[in-house]
Amino acid sequence: MNARSLFLLVFALSLTACSQPTETYDRTLYTFGTLATVQIYDLPRDEAIEIADQIELRLSVLNRDWYAWGDGELGQLNRTLADAEQAPVSDLLGSLIKRSLELRDLSGGRFDPAVGSLVELWGFHDSKTTPVRKPADQDIRSDGSTLGVSVTGENGSQIVVTGRTGIVIDLGGIAKGAALAECARLLRAAGARRALVNLGGDLIALTEEGGPEFRIGIQNPRAEDIAGLILASDGEAVVSSGDYERFFDSDEQRFHHIIDPETGYPSAGAVAVTVIDKDPLLADAAATALMVAGPDAFYLVSKDLGIENAALIDQSGTLYLTDAMQARLVDARARGDEAVLP
Ligand code: AMP
Ligand code: MG
Repeated sequence: MNARSLFLLVFALSLTACSQPTETYDRTLYTFGTLATVQIYDLPRDEAIEIADQIELRLSVLNRDWYAWGDGELGQLNRTLADAEQAPVSDLLGSLIKRSLELRDLSGGRFDPAVGSLVELWGFHDSKTTPVRKPADQDIRSDGSTLGVSVTGENGSQIVVTGRTGIVIDLGGIAKGAALAECARLLRAAGARRALVNLGGDLIALTEEGGPEFRIGIQNPRAEDIAGLILASDGEAVVSSGDYERFFDSDEQRFHHIIDPETGYPSAGAVAVTVIDKDPLLADAAATALMVAGPDAFYLVSKDLGIENAALIDQSGTLYLTDAMQARLVDARARGDEAVLP
């Protein structure tokens, strides 16, 4: 976790911790290559500990199974697909890949789970190391599209069909969103009505009926301060993507981990995107897709994905907001909250 996302985390903690301090249970853990927190506000301590244990265990299983280059299910699937054109897949992973292919279509190919070979070429596949130099231009080929890939078969016997060998499926652009959905499901099943899960700056909020919203600070991508403040109510996920999360600078140029599948190079134009939606997986895919879309296609791609609340900051610091997002930022100000926009 870098210093800036830590900053966002502390901010969220300090704002939310003041509402019901005596009842809050906090768990900090390391998962999905980042620091995460689970805050539960309305359960007795022993129940909160039990559900936090469940969440911690589930997240470590999902992280292993959905990591493209590891020992879990997706890593094994990719090793099979290196020399095969089809492979069996579990129902859960199969449905996730299926959904990621739908989102590829809706985003006009800007979000594409077959970007794995390019992510690997650029060296952004290992969260423990940061690459230092760009690959040779002749090695950067934008042949990563999953067009033609499908998931077929009934539950219990699903198969990924690729039509060619060597496809590396990378779910890094939706894994945290899908994991947030799972956390919310577990929390609700345990009877929690007020809780916040933060996976390295991607959050989901649960609030009781009519209860106060969570105030979430959106980090300034180029400074240690808050670029905006929004209120998140029940079931809403707040997900951000940016060129500041994993990157290296070389020859005064920034190369980051979100790859434009059309060019094979890191996306240009957008510096950071934040999306709010009740479907955390959609919010996650949309944030990645909108980074690739950049300011020019921001409104079009938001609409095509069915996203109402999105914000994008471009290289010059200009803020682009959907109408609904604009209203939310203004609303936060009207309530007397501080919102410092760039
Ligand atoms: P996020 O932080 O949610 O924007 O996800 C970034 C991660 O998604 C990267 O580290 C890659 O593993 C993967 N990724 C990069 N570019 C794309 C893309 N265009 N479509 C789908 N996944 C991507
Ligand atoms: Mg994403």
